[in-house]
Amino acid sequence: MSDLKSASRRKSSPKSKAAIPAKAVKAAVRLRVPKPVDKATMIEIFRRLHEANPEPKGELDYTNPYTLLVAVALSAQSTDVGVNKATKDLFRIADTPQKMLKLGEDGLKEHIRTLNFFNTKAKNVIAAAKRLVDEFGGKVPNSVEILETLPGVGRKTASVVVNIAFGDPRIAVDTHIFRVANRLPLVNTKTPLETQAPLEKLIPKEYLLHAHHWLILHGRYICKARRPECWRCPVNDLCRYPDKTIP
Ligand code: SF4
Repeated sequence: MSDLKSASRRKSSPKSKAAIPAKAVKAAVRLRVPKPVDKATMIEIFRRLHEANPEPKGELDYTNPYTLLVAVALSAQSTDVGVNKATKDLFRIADTPQKMLKLGEDGLKEHIRTLNFFNTKAKNVIAAAKRLVDEFGGKVPNSVEILETLPGVGRKTASVVVNIAFGDPRIAVDTHIFRVANRLPLVNTKTPLETQAPLEKLIPKEYLLHAHHWLILHGRYICKARRPECWRCPVNDLCRYPDKTIP
């Protein structure tokens, strides 16, 4: 066989097609990831989100910091609508840690059995109520670090509670915020956990308190996971996402 023929066979074999150097693949992927927006663009993005919704609100029902804490903890792996249905009657009879303890784990389960992982959630809510009564006089502490030590309360839940109940401008990064922040992008990060600190540092102070709600609502209703609705996005011209959609 001539050298030419064997070289051509080598070229077209499936093996040689698969042998793209890893470095080249990484470089190609990097090219698809736009750099985060500059400060002026960041300010304009939040100015527009503010203009579109000056007083953004979360969608979980609650009556005080304690019921907010319980509602947020129950919302893990469940929809806000589902949690609101479950807590409608619950919060009428148990809106303090003391009353929750009186209701007890079995009583609580009766109210939340439509939610995913209701057994574990009931156990955690009761254990957290006991600690709040024993160590904090039945009050919800205004501290992410303390709240994080309660059973069933992680960094995200603690950050939502201090933001909404106490006006502490924390960004609780959930799947929506992570996605929107990396599409615009405001940041280039790999996990929700590593996204909170840079967002809290980069987002202009005047927008920090409500940024959490604006980004969640934007991700939930416009910048959706499977198919973002870019054609009706108020920050479309500022966004660097390479796969923008049209109607
Ligand atoms: S333009 Fe599209 S991808 Fe960019 S933020 Fe808006 S909805 Fe999301």
